[in-house]
Amino acid sequence: MEYKKVYINPISPEPPRASVLVIYTGGTLGMMYETKGRQLVPFDFEQVIDKVPEIRRLDFEITFLTLSEPLDSSNMKPQIWIEIAGIISNHYAQYDSFVILHGTDTMAYTASALSFLLENLNKPVILTGAQLPIGVARSDARENFITALEIAAATDEAGQPVISEVCIYFNSVLLRGNRARKQESSDFNAFHSQNYPTLATAGVRIEYNLPYIKPYEPDKELQLHTSLNANVTFLKLFPGICRKVVSSILHIEGLKGVVLETFGAGNASTDYWFLEELRMAIDRGIILYNVSQCEGGRVTQGQYQTSKYLKQIGVVSGSDITAEAAITKMMYVFGTDLGSQHHRDLLASPLRGEMSI
Ligand code: ASP
Repeated sequence: MEYKKVYINPISPEPPRASVLVIYTGGTLGMMYETKGRQLVPFDFEQVIDKVPEIRRLDFEITFLTLSEPLDSSNMKPQIWIEIAGIISNHYAQYDSFVILHGTDTMAYTASALSFLLENLNKPVILTGAQLPIGVARSDARENFITALEIAAATDEAGQPVISEVCIYFNSVLLRGNRARKQESSDFNAFHSQNYPTLATAGVRIEYNLPYIKPYEPDKELQLHTSLNANVTFLKLFPGICRKVVSSILHIEGLKGVVLETFGAGNASTDYWFLEELRMAIDRGIILYNVSQCEGGRVTQGQYQTSKYLKQIGVVSGSDITAEAAITKMMYVFGTDLGSQHHRDLLASPLRGEMSI
């Protein structure tokens, strides 16, 4: 994939306070209405910059990299996650921080995937986007973009970054990326994190919730992972799901893992045929990862009889992980050349703060 580079020099005579690399991938923020139609399509980022002249007043040096063809994020793919992680790694020494402009639809998947691909991250990677295109008068794009830049450039008294993890900034809140979910398709307040506190709130001042932010660990070196295995899927349970459906999903050729979306605290049917299908899949080497359909709370296998059997046959508990983090974590874990027991151990433990133990 080709990238275009654009530099923005601050107008202030003072030396720039920070250098930020902005990676523009597409999404509503940079879309406009087709000349003839009523459909939103991505447009070139140079035109986006013209719509936010305010960024020239920030005392940061900003470099833009843009995908040669900006995407609606519904077209996002693991290969592009690997490329974005590679760009961050290649420019890691050169920039203080990174802002990714991204469509909202799959932003939580991208944030989760990047958190796994960038191990020992010690600089901010902030994803943001908008519900309305930047050229629209009521757009939320300007505030989201400018505050994301401010957060990316924030340092403490020692000059160290306040944020050193992958986050989503949207509509005044900063969330851990692999804990966030898109929950609103039309409200500006699109992202929520039910199982982890907000990392910062932007009002007149940006208030950071320091006890919940990953600590800065300068002695750890960034480790880039470049392999994701997408032989994974979701199996969302519902009352009345039939054996044919369960069986055909579990027999997909090459399948490595399934995020089993269960009820409540990780519960599922105790029908014999159902547990048999799961047990046989586990025997074939497929890893089943128990994630609740509920937004808040966590999977506690064994709390009810309806989850006790899942534990007995070897389903791995996802605790309070989101579905987005679970599926990308599976891709990451299966991308490592470790053995099955190691994969199970990794899935059962928090790797980047994506789940509680
Ligand atoms: N469909 C758009 C996208 O995800 C929606 C958005 O950006 O808000 O790219």
